[in-house]
Amino acid sequence: MNVNYSNNNAEESACKVTETICLPDSDLPRVVIIGGGFAGLALTEKLKHKEIQVILIDKNNFHQFQPLLYQVATSALEPDSIVFPFRKQFNGYKNVVFRLAEVEEIQASSNIIVTDKGTVEYDYLVLATGTTTNFFGMENVEQNSLGMKDIRDSLNIRHLMLQNLEQAAITCDDDERDALTNFVIVGGGPAGVEMAGALAEFCKYILPKDYPEYPSSIMNIYLIEAIDELLSTMSEKASTKTLKYLKDLDVKVLFNESVSDYDGSIVTTKSGKTIFAKNLIWTAGVKGQFPKGIDEKHVVKGNRIRTGSFLMVEGYENIFAIGDIAAIITNETPKGHPQVAQTAIQQGKYLGNSLLKIINDEAVKPFEYKDKGSLATVGKRKAVADLGKFKFAGYFAWLLWSIVHLMSISGFRNRLMVGFNWAVSYFTYEKSNRLIIRNFKPKSSVNNPKK
Ligand SMILES: Cc1cc2nc3c(=O)[nH]c(=O)nc-3n(C[C@H](O)[C@H](O)[C@H](O)COP(=O)(O)OP(=O)(O)OC[C@H]3O[C@@H](n4cnc5c(N)ncnc54)[C@H](O)[C@@H]3O)c2cc1C
Repeated sequence: MNVNYSNNNAEESACKVTETICLPDSDLPRVVIIGGGFAGLALTEKLKHKEIQVILIDKNNFHQFQPLLYQVATSALEPDSIVFPFRKQFNGYKNVVFRLAEVEEIQASSNIIVTDKGTVEYDYLVLATGTTTNFFGMENVEQNSLGMKDIRDSLNIRHLMLQNLEQAAITCDDDERDALTNFVIVGGGPAGVEMAGALAEFCKYILPKDYPEYPSSIMNIYLIEAIDELLSTMSEKASTKTLKYLKDLDVKVLFNESVSDYDGSIVTTKSGKTIFAKNLIWTAGVKGQFPKGIDEKHVVKGNRIRTGSFLMVEGYENIFAIGDIAAIITNETPKGHPQVAQTAIQQGKYLGNSLLKIINDEAVKPFEYKDKGSLATVGKRKAVADLGKFKFAGYFAWLLWSIVHLMSISGFRNRLMVGFNWAVSYFTYEKSNRLIIRNFKPKSSVNNPKK
């Protein structure tokens, strides 16, 4: 087989300049991966240096470590500590090509994808596009609240929070000040719990130093959960301990409540409760996101794509789905596998091993998920851990959480930066600089500038 590996210059000269995206010529089978999250990146790592041309397309030029988004939002980490550029990741990977583009459509009958920059032909296509925030059709909530799904969301939360704390110091209106310093987090899963814990620590340790004009009681943190427990996918012990840790940090947890409306100032719940708050962070749900072109009949609950146990999308022979977007529905997994990083990584690695076999018509084993356990942290020095039969909480769980997260971040420099920041914060409770670099406005006030 003729391999035409190109360096950057050779790549440009090998370009066919048409409305297609320019790619190096190659006689190797072409695998196009859409999305470089945990799943897409694990797959690319497995396929590097193999007799296959790998094209990774992502709408961002970086991979992001979503489990630590809340730390960027609360100024514990700077954004570049938890994102890592694809081109740096792929240094020296001669069969891997990155293109920055948003994929809009799959034309499966002609093996082509259409992006905002041009088209790309594929022999094999892998969808690893993850999820987006699900506001369950509540337009007002979507327009006025903040999701936490990517690094821009985290920076938006950080900016809004700091702006509102500054505005609270300016206003002489007590009600307005209360609304500016009240924070409502919706969703008692890991993201909501971790965000609530981090905000509570901000309130306890940073607020008195940075804003001496306020009593620390000025900042109220509410966590709203639709059912009667937190971290419902973890053990009862984890759930109970988490509630205790949050209460110790003065977080007001409201169970069996769900938000029905939010106009930017008043949060209304289904039971009719209202909370004045200019800060609403929505972590209550996600739904799959993927380009159009996949037959609707293969799309299941949560907007996920149903695949067989080899991760091949049902009804197609050369299209696969991995990570949050994929759902293998069996008797053992009636709702699909959990939408967590471990599933995405394991599916990426699995497909990396099996794809070459599939291409060569060799037999492959079905995907098997190995549950490595769950961890969640609540503020500093407290976490809960469910590792099979071992369920524990407290300092050692937190230490384990810290090590696992530190080791999972892409890039040595990023690990070093996060480790350094955590060490400083461990001893001093200090966070990184709390700068308002740009003026953030929620979607509703951008659409309606008078607001
Ligand atoms: C706040 C938060 C905290 C979390 N905490 C944890 C945790 O503690 N532990 C845990 O295990 N899991 C956690 N998760 C879940 C975990 O992050 C996801 O399960 C994981 O990211 C899924 O990986 P993925 O590769 O399927 O998708 P993603 O990581 O979401 O990656 C999808 C990629 O596709 C790209 N993309 C999407 N659409 C297009 C398109 N049309 N064209 C081009 N590119 C596209 C995106 O830019 C992105 O790079 C958390 C998630 C969030 C949001």
